[in-house]
This record gives sequence, C-alpha cells and structure tokens, in this order.
Amino acid sequence: MRKPIIAGNWKMNKLILEAVELAREIKNRTGSVANKEIVLCPPFTALSSVKEVLEDSPIKLGAQNMHWEVRGAYTGEVSPMMLKDVGCTYVILGHSERRQYFGETNSIVKKKVRTAFSTGLVPIVCVGETLPEREKGETLRVLEEQVKTGLSELTREEGKGLVVAYEPVWAIGTGKTATPDQAEEAQRFIRKLLGQMFGGESAQAIRILYGGSINPDNISALMSCEDVDGGLVGGASLNVESFVKIVNY
Ligand code: PEP
Repeated sequence: MRKPIIAGNWKMNKLILEAVELAREIKNRTGSVANKEIVLCPPFTALSSVKEVLEDSPIKLGAQNMHWEVRGAYTGEVSPMMLKDVGCTYVILGHSERRQYFGETNSIVKKKVRTAFSTGLVPIVCVGETLPEREKGETLRVLEEQVKTGLSELTREEGKGLVVAYEPVWAIGTGKTATPDQAEEAQRFIRKLLGQMFGGESAQAIRILYGGSINPDNISALMSCEDVDGGLVGGASLNVESFVKIVNY
C-alpha cells in the first residue's frame, strides 16, 4: 500500500506572515488526516517560520529547489544541507518551471537527485512533456529520457524512497488537466521504467504523483487511477479552502 501524498507547491508566492497564516490554517483544518501525507513547499524565505508552525503536526516541510553541492562558492544558491538544517524532509527537483526558465537539464536534475539522497532529503522529481511533444506523439520518449537520466545514479534501495511527479507541462497553471486516462497511461509507463531501473518491489513502493491544474473537482477522478499516488498542487494550494478539499478528496 502506497500512502498518498498531497503536496502544495507555493512557488514564488507568500510573504512570511502570509505563509505562516496559510500553514496554520492548513494545520488546523487537516489535523486529523492520517491516511495521507501532507507536504507544504513554501518559498525559501518562509521555510523557517512555516517549520515552526508545523512543529507539532505530521505535516512535512519541502523546498522547491536546491543546488547540487552541499556547500561552496555558489552565490545566491541554497544547499541541501541548509534545507535539512531548516527542517525540510522533501525537495521538489526538476520542476518544469526550473527546466523552462532556468535551463535545468536532465543531467542537472541527476546531480541534484544524487545529492538530495546523500543529504537525507527525499526528492520529488518532476517529469512531463510539453504540448508540442504530446502532439508529436513523443510523450513516452520524453518521459523515458527524463526518468532514465534524472534517476540514473540511484541504488535500488534509494530508488524505493523516491517520489516522482508526472506533470504534463501543458497542464501546469493552465486550468487544463490531464484526463485520468492520460495520467494513468503516463504514470503506469513511469512505474514500468522504475521497475526496470530499481526492480519490481521498489517500483511498487515508489509514490508517483500527478500535477497540473489539480482542483477540488478533479482530484477524486485522478486519485482513482491505479498508478496515481497523490498530487503536486500549485495554484489550488495557495487557498486554504481548495487545498483542504483536495486533501480530503
Ligand atoms: C505545479 O506547479 O507543480 C503545478 C502543478 O501547478 P498548478 O497546480 O497550478 O497547475
């Protein structure tokens, strides 16, 4: 049994006081949820304050990015050790906005995934095709390249602890959601790849999230898919009402 994860990616939103307020309301409203793991990923500047709010709750803290080195002369970057230090359990890696706007490639993602594991962070590794790639029938090829390169340096044991997020780029922030069939086809394929890389037992244990315009109305259908083990939620995670409804799908 894979415990579902509902993770909120707040992106570059929320000042510290706003983040604290949102985290507090989410904590108060989801306190009794035990059958799902809830993860909040505020911006770096709010991690410490949100961690304090979450101290006495099962809600986990995640970051949205990190550097691949643990320390050094990388002006402006944040290291995985710093994320551990502030109390993060998870880190989102290879988000399509990082790939699209900051030139993050599969080999950069690979280095980050490697360091996340050696630092004790659980990476939520994002993969997904663009609209032109889907229209050209290249979805599975793109996913294969992202999964095989991005996760290539992990051992079988590490592989088991991984979280993958299938996020079709055309569905992120657009209001267009993948149909349950589209999500299931991609996620079943990702699990098959994970099986080839880490063995069937590990592949069965790995949580594969769907992400892309999740809202309270579409979460149940997506979660009814066999290979959808949770959601990475962007826009709808910024509002307490919609996020709590998604958690309680
Ligand atoms: C995301 O950024 O990971 C995401 C899925 O965003 P949204 O839910 O807004 O599409």
